[in-house]
Amino acid sequence: MPFDILLKNGRIIDGKGNPWFRGDVAVTDGRIQAVRPRIQGEAREELDVSQYVVCPGFIDAHTHSDYVFFVDPTAQSKVRQGITTEVIGNCGMSGAPYFGGAKEKFTSAPGGFVPFWESIPEYLEALAKQPKTINLALLIGHGTLRAAFVGHEDRPPTPDELTRMKACLSEGLQAGAVGLSTGLYFAPGSFASEEELVELAGIAGRHGTVVTSHIRDEGSRSVGFIPAVLEIIRIGRKARVPVQISHIKAFGPDTWHTSGEVLRILEAARIEGVDVTCDQYPYDTTGGGLAADTLPYSFQSGKTPKQISEALRKPDVREAIKEAVATNIQKRGGPSVLTIATYPADPRLEGHTLQEICDSRKKDPAEVVMDMLSEGYEAKWNCRSLSQEDVDAFLKYPATMIGSDGSSLSTVGPLSHGNPHPRNFGAFPRVINEYVRQRAVLRLEDAIRKMTSLPAQRFSLTDRGTLAEGMWADIVMLDVDAVRDATFEHPKQYPTGIPYVMVNGVWVIKDNEFTRNLPGGLARRR
Ligand SMILES: [Zn+2]
Repeated sequence: MPFDILLKNGRIIDGKGNPWFRGDVAVTDGRIQAVRPRIQGEAREELDVSQYVVCPGFIDAHTHSDYVFFVDPTAQSKVRQGITTEVIGNCGMSGAPYFGGAKEKFTSAPGGFVPFWESIPEYLEALAKQPKTINLALLIGHGTLRAAFVGHEDRPPTPDELTRMKACLSEGLQAGAVGLSTGLYFAPGSFASEEELVELAGIAGRHGTVVTSHIRDEGSRSVGFIPAVLEIIRIGRKARVPVQISHIKAFGPDTWHTSGEVLRILEAARIEGVDVTCDQYPYDTTGGGLAADTLPYSFQSGKTPKQISEALRKPDVREAIKEAVATNIQKRGGPSVLTIATYPADPRLEGHTLQEICDSRKKDPAEVVMDMLSEGYEAKWNCRSLSQEDVDAFLKYPATMIGSDGSSLSTVGPLSHGNPHPRNFGAFPRVINEYVRQRAVLRLEDAIRKMTSLPAQRFSLTDRGTLAEGMWADIVMLDVDAVRDATFEHPKQYPTGIPYVMVNGVWVIKDNEFTRNLPGGLARRR
């Protein structure tokens, strides 16, 4: 029996951190058939790959591609980076459950898409059936669960509501979701007590899954960065569940240079027996929403996005929160480091700093932000609010994996709008270009481990993440010296130096071209 595909004489990186060796990879029926220095035999397709590094397809540990493939199945900004699986539903926000307050929380998906499911199993089925470029694995968002059963108010769930949240979570995990995500920085997730979170995290633990967390504070806005890190470690300890700090960062000048202390805390927890890990995107600039980043939690309490915009048109409401909004802007580093990324209500503002808009309108930053949110709740910005020293330190930590915090987008069609953070198009190649090739912060094999076997282990994707016999044939080939990534000036650019990407044994990128194949599946917890 000939192999389907035989890759000859590549520099093989297995995904576990081992040094590369020269060898062959054989693929049949979507699976890796063999990986060794010399494979004898015929193949329907044989490629000499001696100029490339051959490695497992990248697993993006942290993404928000919750709806995009329903809008454009060919979305390719991730697969062009070598990403073959995305973990979606992060930061406490997932596509399901989609009923009750979760429906009101839903603002807009690109292209005017509206979900057609209600329960988590229905959403999983929809994700499985939808043609797409890459594989998906689902986390269930705590904020979405809370919105569905408790609504938007700042109050604890009643015992009955908590029971229903736990049952809904259980049902979703049973159907194949890979864990629970929390977004304790965002309303309504921010209204949850540690006790509520321990209750729900315990369910995730009992199903053998994980809890990821956009922690309560990454800077100096509410409880502070270090207390927020300690909280998620306590949740892991009390609920006996592995925990992951999402997009770890020391946010804002008040918090810079704390990475050393935080890494000592994480390592001490691991030695004690709490399984805590991190994911991270490799930039000194974050991306977020103006509403979540500036509006006081007490103001957000009980309001849907539509009601928030309406309230911001009232002068007395604005006056009452203006100082808090101004302080939150200052804590991000001030208006000159904040650049409007996406603002459908007035796209002319995209690409301008908040300072520039203030200068042209002769208004102060808090006024401009409230003006903008009153016209369009979805406003997003990029914030140059991190210190590179902390970014490097977190990236070097062996328990940190790579997660883009972005979505699968495109350079054309409904997923090409706005001026998105370049992480959507270039987070993974940036690690190779900037942190391996140019600055030697990481060995190439360690960088690949953080993109492959580490996230596979974390999310129990047991048949992906390494180049080994029997694994799904998710394979990337890199021309390491040619790898370049998208920039803030030109964010909507596919990377170079990643000429071949295979998903489940099918080429999606071949000879630098998108093949239009859509072989992606749904990776369910087993
Ligand atoms: Zn987040």
